[in-house]
Amino acid sequence: MKDTAQRIREIVIVGGGTAGWMAAASLKQHFGKAPISITLIESSEIGTIGVGEATIPTIRRFYQSLGLSDVDVLRGANATCKLGIRFNDWLRPGSSFVHPFGLFGQDLKGVPFHNYWQRLRAEGETAEIGDYSLGASLAKGGKFTLPSRNPPSSLSVFDWALHLDAGLFAGLMRKVAEAAGVQRIDARITQVNLRPQDGFIASVDLDNGSTVEGELFIDCSGFRGLLIEEALKTGYEDWSPWLLCDRALAVQSESLVGAWREPPPYTDVTAQTAGWRWRIPLQTRFGNGYVYSSRHIDDDAALVELTGAVPDRLLHAPRQIRFTPGRRAKAWNKNCIALGLAAGFLEPLESTSIALIETGIEKIKQLFPDRGFNPAVIDEFNDMSRLEMERVRDFIILHYKANQRGDTAFWRDCQAVEIPDTLKHKIELFRERGHFIRYRWEMFQPASWLAIYAGFEILPKTWDPSLDGADVAALSRALGEMRRSVREAVEAAPTHDAFLDQYARPAPMAAQ
Ligand SMILES: Cc1cc2nc3c(=O)[nH]c(=O)nc-3n(C[C@H](O)[C@H](O)[C@H](O)COP(=O)(O)OP(=O)(O)OC[C@H]3O[C@@H](n4cnc5c(N)ncnc54)[C@H](O)[C@@H]3O)c2cc1C
Repeated sequence: MKDTAQRIREIVIVGGGTAGWMAAASLKQHFGKAPISITLIESSEIGTIGVGEATIPTIRRFYQSLGLSDVDVLRGANATCKLGIRFNDWLRPGSSFVHPFGLFGQDLKGVPFHNYWQRLRAEGETAEIGDYSLGASLAKGGKFTLPSRNPPSSLSVFDWALHLDAGLFAGLMRKVAEAAGVQRIDARITQVNLRPQDGFIASVDLDNGSTVEGELFIDCSGFRGLLIEEALKTGYEDWSPWLLCDRALAVQSESLVGAWREPPPYTDVTAQTAGWRWRIPLQTRFGNGYVYSSRHIDDDAALVELTGAVPDRLLHAPRQIRFTPGRRAKAWNKNCIALGLAAGFLEPLESTSIALIETGIEKIKQLFPDRGFNPAVIDEFNDMSRLEMERVRDFIILHYKANQRGDTAFWRDCQAVEIPDTLKHKIELFRERGHFIRYRWEMFQPASWLAIYAGFEILPKTWDPSLDGADVAALSRALGEMRRSVREAVEAAPTHDAFLDQYARPAPMAAQ
């Protein structure tokens, strides 16, 4: 029997930021010729948040699925390549390590690599774990090359993401969406109308006097959550007991000073008095910002700290953004699904917000409802969204909790945070047995956890017992070979700037 009578035919997306246009492009492509209309309402008067420039590699799979190539996005979004994140001064002042998108070393005889690394450190070897990672070593060397399609060993495995101009990227998504048939309305929503019988959203009124009806509403209206919160009163889980930062100052700057002239192939994040500062290279400018705790520094002092640290000319006055770290109690409530900032916000430290938009869109496709809105489908969506965000939350909390700075009240308070049991258990198993617990819906793989554990000197109390009788000299030679192979690959790679010249920058116009 063909039961299509209950199908949803009208989707209304509220908001035209990164979340709204990504959802519009991807859902329209997914539904193809199915008779489902998608209307996106945005207000150019209100605008978008205008930040969100660092990504993780899943973004590439996302835009490739829409038919865009890496070169299209590198050129179209003023983008640069990102091999990972470099953390400066987080462990203690003067410290630095890279969290790469890639693996560390080679597992041998079924024993994870970090055991061998630790075994040799006990013998006095000083090589850092990053010396066994091609991704981290390319990043540190300012080099970039495309990963091998058929890596000869795990030593050559790394991935990459982009730093992009969020406005230009949303523009690319809009182009794809509109070409596929998404209707755009530029107007401000003045009222959300609920059905009296069940409180579902029936329509939205616009400031141009019209009303737009829909069956499924996707709320991409940013922090305020115009539908999910202001209309449906869904509630918000506040995670500020774990994540102390609640404000950000963001400013763009010229890229004209010294070594920074060549954009580094990583996001730079540096610990500050009461939070941390980001520096994101685009092809023609930098994005900078200070994410801080308003309980530990006042806005004026934060501004002075940020502007004092940016080495180049600022392109505008810094903008302040206030947020509460946490998540919407239900990402899906009645006939409304929240995506992007409307669904919650942790903080930008591991560039996870856009990735959570991608997984949210995937979940909408997998669990696309009919007009009956079966509660089992909604519960499954909410369960998955909650778990996914809690996993990311735990990973980010680790970065703060593990600091050994203790030089300001902020960093001491981070050390004192009572962490969630899920994270406590994870750390305990790594310390005890070098084991990585993988929970369901985890975005970060063991290699990422290893990068952060090692960067913060959280190490297993010992190595795998099978290495007790290992021939240390042979082991040292084997690991030396691994480092040599990484070094040689880095030496052979072009600089990030040279790579961008070749792939990302339009060829200069031929002389007339
Ligand atoms: C300081 C900071 C740094 C960040 N850095 C990163 C990062 O490096 N990487 C990353 O992945 N993410 C980052 N994020 C998150 C990222 O910016 C967002 O996830 C992303 O931009 C998506 O935003 P959005 O589309 O949900 O909301 P917005 O960009 O705020 O868009 C909201 C949309 O809703 C519309 N709207 C609102 N009200 C109405 C109304 N009444 N009528 C009509 N339209 C309306 C607006 O016009 C706009 O189009 C960062 C966030 C912050 C705060």
